[in-house]
Amino acid sequence: MIIDDFLTYNKHFVQQKSLPHIGHLPRKHMAVITCMDCRLVEMFEQALGLERGDVLELRTAGATIPEPERSGLESDLIRSLAVGVYLLGVQEVAVIGHTECGLSPKDPTILTTSLITSMQALGVDPQKLIEQEKLANVQGLLRWLGVFNNVHMNVGQVVNVIRNSPYLPKLPVHGLVIDINTGKLELVDRAG
Ligand SMILES: [Zn+2]
Repeated sequence: MIIDDFLTYNKHFVQQKSLPHIGHLPRKHMAVITCMDCRLVEMFEQALGLERGDVLELRTAGATIPEPERSGLESDLIRSLAVGVYLLGVQEVAVIGHTECGLSPKDPTILTTSLITSMQALGVDPQKLIEQEKLANVQGLLRWLGVFNNVHMNVGQVVNVIRNSPYLPKLPVHGLVIDINTGKLELVDRAG
């Protein structure tokens, strides 16, 4: 398994590298929310000029807060931001969605079919999950996953959820979209 490669590589890494000791408070007093897309690995930090210790990086599928979690305490993103703000000194937030996101399919029907087929093939009954979690139908399943139509709109919505969260103080929250192929940032909504 790949984990064995990690462990082998890591032996050399710790022998060859001596990391400077730095504190756990983000130097730039900022939290950056983005997607878990593997194409963002390494490229994301380089495109923003970020170094180890600069910011908190929060990654969720789609850089989104799914609709069912937009109010109340369910959102793990809001929980992480609360830790960032109240315990780690975060004073500014940026939500950075990206082009060609897997959660924003060109054809939602194809995504729905692949989801159902994949769940069934892996031994998870989608219908049982829908009933158990009172998701009503397949659309409910897609809402739970956080599937969206338009990345710009989604970034705007997530920015608004964070700005209006009763669990967070008023602080600047920006919305951006990064081009997954070039790394170019587009400002969607700049706070004050
Ligand atoms: Zn994505």
